[in-house]
Parts: sequence; C-alpha cells; structure tokens
Amino acid sequence: MSDVAKVALSAENAVESSLVRLGRYLSFAPISSDPAAKGKLAELAAVLRDDLAKLGLQRARVLDLPDAHPCVAAEWMGAGPNAPTILVYGHFDVQPVKGETWDTDPHALVRKGDRLYGRGSADDMGGWLSHFVAMEAWLSQTGKLPCNVKVLLEGEEEIGSPNLAKFMDAHPDAFESDAMVLTDCENPSVDIPGLTVSLRGLLEVEVAVASAKSDVHSGLWGNIVPDPATTLIALLARLVDADGRLALARREIDQAWLATSRDVPLTPDVIRAGARLLDGVSPLPDRGLSPAAWAWRQPAVTVLSTTFPAPGSEKNAIRRSCSAKLSLRIAPGQTSKQLYDAVAAELSRDVPGGLTVSVTELPGAASSWDYVAKGPAFDAADRAYEAAWGRRPIRIGIGGSIPFVALFGERFSRLPLVLNGVIDPETGAHGPNESMHVGVYAKTVKANVHLYAELARALVKSG
Ligand SMILES: [Zn+2]
Repeated sequence: MSDVAKVALSAENAVESSLVRLGRYLSFAPISSDPAAKGKLAELAAVLRDDLAKLGLQRARVLDLPDAHPCVAAEWMGAGPNAPTILVYGHFDVQPVKGETWDTDPHALVRKGDRLYGRGSADDMGGWLSHFVAMEAWLSQTGKLPCNVKVLLEGEEEIGSPNLAKFMDAHPDAFESDAMVLTDCENPSVDIPGLTVSLRGLLEVEVAVASAKSDVHSGLWGNIVPDPATTLIALLARLVDADGRLALARREIDQAWLATSRDVPLTPDVIRAGARLLDGVSPLPDRGLSPAAWAWRQPAVTVLSTTFPAPGSEKNAIRRSCSAKLSLRIAPGQTSKQLYDAVAAELSRDVPGGLTVSVTELPGAASSWDYVAKGPAFDAADRAYEAAWGRRPIRIGIGGSIPFVALFGERFSRLPLVLNGVIDPETGAHGPNESMHVGVYAKTVKANVHLYAELARALVKSG
C-alpha cells in the first residue's frame, strides 16, 4: 500500500473520534462579537495551541495583539527548503445565537442522521479540524508531512477580521508560504465539491429623507405636505424590479459562468429547504439566469433597518424625517464606487416635493473578489478532490462577502489561494441549527491528505 493510501485510511478511521474534539471546541461558545466571551476565546486559543503541538506540529503558539482576539499559529517545516510551504487558514470564532430558536443546544455537538448540529460545526471548526486530522494521520503513519505546513487560526473572522492585517504585519513569518488553503467556504452539494473563485463585496449605505423642522398633525397637514415615510418607501421601491431584485448596476454574465452556475443543483426544493421558506413561498424566477448566477454574479440589496416609527410610538403625526440602512452586495468585477454611485443617483433624482435626501456610505465596505483558479496548485487540488470525492471540484462563486479573502488576495496576489470548506447548502451558517454533513467532513479530511502530497509534487522547488 502506498504511503498516501495508508495515511488516507488512517485519517478515515480517525474521523469519528475527531468529532469528540469538535464537540469540545464548540462548547467554548467562542462568539467574537460578544465582549463577555473574550476569556472563552483566549481559553480556546490555548487549547488549540496545545492540540496542534500534541499532533506533532512545531512552534505552536498564541499570537496576541492589544484589543484583539488572538490568533493561533503552528508549523511543520521538516520537508526541507526545496519542498513548498502550505498555509492552512481557518477561524475558531463563531457567530452569536441570540434571538435564534435552535432544536438542540447550539453549543453542544448533536448528531442526527448524517448531520452534526452546533454553532461553528461547519463555519468554520470542521474546516480546519479536517486538516488537523489529515496532518495527524501523515505524522503518525509516516513521521512526516509531504510538504511544509503552517496553520493560522483567526479569532475574529465573524466580526470582519478587523485586525488580521495587523497580525500579518506583526507576524509575517506565520503567513509566509508558497500556497494558501483557506478553509471557510462551501460546496454546491454534499456530493459535489467546490473551490470558491469569486465573492461578492459588501457596501452599506444610509438614506435619510427629511421634510420639516418638526413633526406636524397628520389630520391638519396630511394631503398638503409631503410625508418622508411614504416618500422613502417610494424611493426604495425604485431600486428593485417587479421580482424585488436590485434593478441597477447589473452585470453581463459570461457564458462560462452561467454554465458552471447551472451545475449547482439549486432546485426549488433545495432552495425551499436551505432558505427555510414557508409552504407556498416560491424562489424568485430565474429570468434567463440561474439561482446561483444571481447569487454569485449580480449585485443585490437588503434593507437592514429603518427609522419608521416603531410599535408603541404611534401618534397621529407626519414625522419630519426617516431613514433606512441598506446592505448592497457588490458584484465580482464591480467596485463599491460604481454600485454606490448608481444607487445614490437613483435615490436622489426627481425627489417629489423637494424633500431633502441624503445618501451616505457607511464605514467597513468589503471589496468583491474575482479570481482565476488555474495553474499547478489548482491541478493538484483537482486531483486531491477527485481521489477523495470521486469527482473534480467545480469553480463556484459565493454570494457572501468574506473580508479576509480580499485581504489575502491583496497581500498574497502572487500565491495560489485554494478556497475550500465543509459548508453545504443545508448547513445554515449564521442561522439556527447550523450543521455539518459528516460525509462532507470525511471526504474533506481525505482530500486534505491527498492535497498535501499533490501540492508537494506540483510546487516542488528546484534545489
Ligand atoms: Zn466562517
């Protein structure tokens, strides 16, 4: 039996027991947005450092910066200077569960059939744990890894990676590598692996409408003076088409993307289940595209909040002003300025009654990302996935925005960035009952075993 086959078998056998560790990590409830959980993140970071050391990695350490949740780093450089160094990135913080109704304890791993429920199971603990298991199998079976490996786990991804650039500046050696495997992404189905090559960006704007210096009696002044609330509703309605989709700044979608997007089995039933739609509610019509193409490649709008009078504050008055915050998803290949300009122009033109309309960009925009995943590292990834999943991964987009990816893309543009993960359409990341499919996890463990060997061969340096 070849080394890689022996290691793959050992890793496969370790999948079940690794779930005990997953349950332990989950139980820390490392919610990065909750100031009260700061100690839990620090505790988990120390546990991960110790576990990385135990599985045979060197220089396992916690990286600290003031006013930041820590990162965890470790490495194994025993493959020598002619072997490539692979960076594995993941994040150990999780989204909050406040206001969500879970069927199980969100901070305990609960198995039902093929799915493992718990906050962080798939986003992103299963993602990096699949590497721990693969590395451990290589080290226990052969005493070495086929390539040099660095592991970098972040504790602030779910709050937008506000300090990741500072960690890169303070600890460049923790990131220095020849290829990066960034594990926080999804697969089109539990049978079809995906490598992510495009992301939408994110832009938030506030639109405020004002009419008067004070609220006025709606009986005396209604039908005579304009109402900012109904005007705002009318302005917002201009942004969308009859289906409710953003009608502005749409992109031409090339045929290759459209064809790939149609390989993603997002049938109406899958969408209903994945988006938890009520009976009788239909997904939006395709209009010549596909659901995936709409999500990956077109800009979109969501209302985040409004200042319409809240329940309990009713009074018979025309309010003097109101506002709404909108989230806009920036299409790949589109800049935040292009999208902002289109939206601001539409909201500001021909405002009835001369009301004051101001459109402000809110801080924290994330760029979109469009990547060409070609070359030896991606051929290596294709072969690794084929060995584990029985088929090559398709190149997919993600409709969401992952700020760390744009940052890695900016800082390490010359390196191959392989974006994979253990999320699938039923995962429900960032919502109640988040889960990971055990088969997806097991296949990803096996793919990682092959990935190190394939990358070592594909990226070997002439010595
Ligand atoms: Zn994530």
